[in-house]
Amino acid sequence: MKTGRPLVLLYIHDEESSGLRARGGASKWWLGKSLAEHARRIEKAGGRLTIRVGAAKDVLNDVIVETGATAVFWNRRYGGPERALDADLKTSLKQDNMDVSTFNGRLLTEPWDITTGAGTPYKVFTPYWKAMKAAYRAPDALPAPKSLSGPDIESVTLDSLGLHPTNPDWSDGLEETWSPGEAGAMDRLSDFLEGPINTYSKDRNRPDLEDGTSRLSPHLHFGEISPAQVWRAVQHGINADRFDESSAMTFLSELVWREFSYVLLYYNPDLATENYNSDFDALPWRKDSDAVKAWSEGQTGYPIVDAGMRQLWHTGYMHNRVRMIVASFLTKHLLQPWQVGEDWFWDTLVDADQAANPASWQWTAGSGADAAPYFRVFNPITQGQKFDPNGAYVRRWCPELSDLPDKFLHTPWEAGSDTLKAAGITLGKTYPKPIVDHPTARQRALDAYDTLKEKR
Ligand code: FAD
Repeated sequence: MKTGRPLVLLYIHDEESSGLRARGGASKWWLGKSLAEHARRIEKAGGRLTIRVGAAKDVLNDVIVETGATAVFWNRRYGGPERALDADLKTSLKQDNMDVSTFNGRLLTEPWDITTGAGTPYKVFTPYWKAMKAAYRAPDALPAPKSLSGPDIESVTLDSLGLHPTNPDWSDGLEETWSPGEAGAMDRLSDFLEGPINTYSKDRNRPDLEDGTSRLSPHLHFGEISPAQVWRAVQHGINADRFDESSAMTFLSELVWREFSYVLLYYNPDLATENYNSDFDALPWRKDSDAVKAWSEGQTGYPIVDAGMRQLWHTGYMHNRVRMIVASFLTKHLLQPWQVGEDWFWDTLVDADQAANPASWQWTAGSGADAAPYFRVFNPITQGQKFDPNGAYVRRWCPELSDLPDKFLHTPWEAGSDTLKAAGITLGKTYPKPIVDHPTARQRALDAYDTLKEKR
């Protein structure tokens, strides 16, 4: 915009040609809606979003020849293969005398900016958060461009990218839940800042509450809002005494978990496949496709786990507390490799993120940086009772349990036959019996994890 020259606003769909990890189904759905919204906003300002399919290098070369462009701008990416592609692109464009500039649009700071006193990347969250808090100042916002213009060059239609699911179209639940795009993101932020931010530190672990957290994650993932915008808005509210400072700071610290995940990804490009802590390479995982199926379909017989997995399937989202519970259940109670769960989340989450997803899976499994200690096995019964105390979350996602008294909602197998009958439940038929016994599975996990200790 500063150069005052015409702009080609270009989206390159390089899904098949790039060799990068293919997006999951829920992410594709969001991308399609997000691009449509983005194109509408650009058109309103008199511009046009050009969409092309193919390898970025080829597409850019074509567009440069067609338009006589002399400069190319893009935002940086942080995954290993993405960095390699972008570096190669930059080199070749520069060789052709193009002016190339890249920016940070995704993160508060670059992963290499905040380092320990010794100049090494942080491996533990709390000191990273302290350093970030001390160093970071959100930049002032730039106004959105009022008018856009550029050459009207060939573009494929959004529909032709095939991002919307067909045969079957399973996206109704996503459609009901989300408004992808910048306007939806700004609405989410202002709703959150209207009130929920003040109770965030108290309510953020309660999946039964509609507004306990911001639900900004997919908007942040797709760049519809930047973490800097969120930080700035929160900081203004704190400075103006509009927010409970301690609660608002807890919220900002979660935003910094997102940054920390990117530090981990940047320095560990194989974060989604390899144990961050290689001691875990020796963990004796089990092979049990039936158990994985029951888990992914929300049929484990543990209500909080099943509610979470069904929320995920229906809405493309799961509350953070429940993500930890289901991830612990898969990796510990069922002793399945964390990569299996990471992959399922990758396909089904609308906020599936190449940094936060593997970093969080590894954190829960115990193999990650600053991870939960391996012996922490989330108890799906007491976690349910504590964080869904009235059972509203379980009732919403496992309606077949609705008529159970609160007392048995997280332990239906403990209800007597009369109680079950009165609630219309036949265990093993209308709702599964637990696929593993909690104390036995817990002990099996501890024994398996103990083998690592012996090897150390
Ligand atoms: P809020 O509580 O409102 O937090 C604000 C923002 O901070 C979030 O939007 C998110 O960008 C960031 N954030 C919050 N918690 C974390 C965290 N633990 N790690 C990294 N960033 C965080 N988050 C993703 O964005 N994508 C993923 O693919 C993803 N996979 C996860 C997998 C597992 C097993 C677990 C345990 C967590 C995962 N998370 C992931 C982190 C977290 O669950 C979500 O970011 C959060 O639930 C999003 O809801 P929210 O926007 O309401 O969060």
